[in-house]
Amino acid sequence: MLAYDCVPAALGAIMNSVNVYKGWCKKCGICIAFCPQKVLATGADGFPAPGNLEACTGCRWCELRCPDFAIVVSTEAREEGTDEE
Ligand code: SF4
Ligand code: SF4
Repeated sequence: MLAYDCVPAALGAIMNSVNVYKGWCKKCGICIAFCPQKVLATGADGFPAPGNLEACTGCRWCELRCPDFAIVVSTEAREEGTDEE
């Protein structure tokens, strides 16, 4: 499984995670095409990968459009004092 975490600049208290399950993904590119923020791109291995992860709003449009349930977005509140320098 590929897992990516992001912290949108405009949503400092929120952390979005985009997870791609390679065993289910057929590399169709639908999630990439439908991402309104252009977060996703085709990675070197052909699977979707975030190229602009900080722009992810956690809208879950990629997850909802995936015909194979292969991409999952989760949004979590960040606890204070967890910032990394
Ligand atoms: S829409 Fe689903 S199956 Fe298609 S590339 Fe994205 S994660 Fe893979
Ligand atoms: S949650 Fe929305 S903004 Fe984030 S990668 Fe998926 S479609 Fe793009």
